[in-house]
Amino acid sequence: MRLTRLELSGFKSFAKKSDFDFSAPITAIVGPNGSGKSNVAEAFRFVLGEQSIKSLRGKKGEDLIYTGENGRLNRAAVRVEFDNRDRTLALDFDAVVLERAVYRDGTNEYFINGSRVRLKDVTELLARAHIGASGHHIISQGEADRVLAASPRERRAMIEDALGLRIFHYKIRESEKKLAKTEENKQQVEALRRENKPHLSFLERQVAKLKKALSLREELEVRYAEYLKREERYLEAEAEAIAAAREEPERRARELSRRIAHLRAALEKQEEDDAARAEVLALEKELREVREERERLNRTLGSLEGQIAFEKRRIADEARRAQDAAHATVPMGAVETLVREADESLAALEQEEDISRARRIAAHIRGLLEKFLRTHRAARPAAPDHKPLRRLEHEYAKAERALEKVKARAAQLEARSRAAQEAMVRAHEEGRTQERELFALMQEHNEVQLTLSSLEARAAQLARDREAFKRELAEAVALLGRGAARYREVSLEDAAGEAVPLEELLAEERTAQEKRRKELERMKIRLEELGGANADEIMREYEEVKERDAFLERELKDLEASAASLRSLIEDLDRELEEKFLQGIEKISEAFHTFFTLMFGGGKASLKVVREKRRTPRTGVEEEEAMPGEDEEESELAEVGVEVAVSLPRKRVKGLMMLSGGERALTSIALIFAMSRVNPPPFLILDETDAALDEANSRRYGDMLEELAKESQLIVITHNRETMSRAGVLYGITMAADGVSRVLSVKFEEGAQFAK
Ligand code: ATP
Repeated sequence: MRLTRLELSGFKSFAKKSDFDFSAPITAIVGPNGSGKSNVAEAFRFVLGEQSIKSLRGKKGEDLIYTGENGRLNRAAVRVEFDNRDRTLALDFDAVVLERAVYRDGTNEYFINGSRVRLKDVTELLARAHIGASGHHIISQGEADRVLAASPRERRAMIEDALGLRIFHYKIRESEKKLAKTEENKQQVEALRRENKPHLSFLERQVAKLKKALSLREELEVRYAEYLKREERYLEAEAEAIAAAREEPERRARELSRRIAHLRAALEKQEEDDAARAEVLALEKELREVREERERLNRTLGSLEGQIAFEKRRIADEARRAQDAAHATVPMGAVETLVREADESLAALEQEEDISRARRIAAHIRGLLEKFLRTHRAARPAAPDHKPLRRLEHEYAKAERALEKVKARAAQLEARSRAAQEAMVRAHEEGRTQERELFALMQEHNEVQLTLSSLEARAAQLARDREAFKRELAEAVALLGRGAARYREVSLEDAAGEAVPLEELLAEERTAQEKRRKELERMKIRLEELGGANADEIMREYEEVKERDAFLERELKDLEASAASLRSLIEDLDRELEEKFLQGIEKISEAFHTFFTLMFGGGKASLKVVREKRRTPRTGVEEEEAMPGEDEEESELAEVGVEVAVSLPRKRVKGLMMLSGGERALTSIALIFAMSRVNPPPFLILDETDAALDEANSRRYGDMLEELAKESQLIVITHNRETMSRAGVLYGITMAADGVSRVLSVKFEEGAQFAK
């Protein structure tokens, strides 16, 4: 990259448009004091983006705009043009023109190749090409010493700048800003997530409950459908069963009623005509009388028999006694025996109640007495009387005939009575059969009624079950929606997934269904406890909040990832910076020594990296020059700085403090040149850096300029003849009485008149 042109218009003393062409390796700008030479150097700083007006020798932007006796301008502008064929500037143009303008109100405008850009764009573009506004390559008047006067830390910054390491700081700072922003974002995202968290967990719990409720509801739907279907089947089947079961008993009951009524009527009629009984009774009465007569006759016959026997014995005795005719004495013993036997019989007689036996006992006693008499009475000689016997026998015969008659009558009556009784029994028996039948029928009727009333109870239960079914269905629809009414569509399956046959369905115990209903109740209660209101809303909100949380989580991961990559980028940059810095320092130190010995004809010069502890935390003022990437904690550790060590030839004193003004200037120049040598800037502007040099040193300085010009374009503002002699082009700056600077190309001889 080469500097080709500089154009000033309205900048400081350059009221009119003035331009400089930099075609030679060394361009010298010469002119009397106060003509505006330094303004040219400042024009470079200005156009390259300098923000410190103070370093441009002004108080405010306005001071940079021409103000003279003839009037004042509103705008100051500087343009600088580069040959960019080597693309040092990261723009795809062979020529790059930068322009900056400032207005009286202090506003600034920046342009790159005519396009309006931001300051940042300019700064970035230049930083990448290792040039900048306050860079090491513009050494203002009296500033040569700065590199020596600076603190080790400031020196380090200058050297870094010269080594083109500013870009690292720039990148590190950018990365740190990004990192800080990332951390801030991360905290914000974390805060948002934390904020979200309780709501999300609340919703998660709600959703879990909802899901539970939903699955419970689904199960309830299935169970309800099964229950309702089974119940309806049962109700239908039960109704049919009751109707069927009723048919036979009802028919039977009707028939029984009819038959019972019939039998009752028949039995009532039977009771009315009971003539048979009367006949039987009459016959019985008559028969009783006939039998009594027969008894009487029998007794009469018995008595007659006794009398006849007695008469016969008397007759026989009388006949025997008549034959014996003698009286016999009676022994006492015989009398006592008679008395005892008679007494015994009499005692028996006294006890006897049966008249016929009593009579027989009486007859016996008489017999005893007759026997005693017959035994002991002397036979009577008179002939026995037969008349009583004949009378008795006549009576007997008469009684016998009467008995025969009575017997016949009794036999007749008995036969009739038997017949009448049999007739009556027969009639009774028929009645009893009917009664038994009636009884049996009534019993059966009762049983049938019992069956019917139990069927009645079943029917009543069925009616209640029907009501309950209706209520259950209504409740199911209210709870689960109209779908619950489509329970008929479901197919009932057993555990194996087989359809349950109807018979099995109906054969089931009623308690099973009751168990199902209770389970439904339990499920309903549980469902109610879980609640299911606003389900859609909750789900939607949950999805939203979850999605937001997931988004934030992703965001957080992204932020963490970018923070990590930023940290490692910063580490890498730090490491690279450190490496390049140390390598650069070594090279500069070598070059410094070379230039130094060249200038002083011997001696020693070197740079040393030192690490010093900071005592106080960095302040805002120091911020600009502080090593980026450091913060207060790190600054406690070590601060890298660069110290300069010199020892002059033939002199014992060492250290910068001991140097004379000229020696100091030479040392500064040696260091500046060393820095430029190691990392040659595209151009180097030296504003009266050679002011303090004597003739011999001016020559050495001139030699070094030529050496440096091989790598960098040099613009020297000088009063030094020797320096002028080394320049390819000389520009003279003049200022007339009007206070306006003018530029003109001059020859060496013309320029030399401004030399001191
Ligand atoms: P020296 O050789 O003594 O260093 P020089 O050539 O470097 O002098 P400068 O310092 O560049 O001179 O010029 C300073 C001159 O510029 C002063 O005369 C000053 O009045 C003039 N000047 C500075 N700012 C303005 C301005 N805004 N308007 C007009 N003139 C200005």
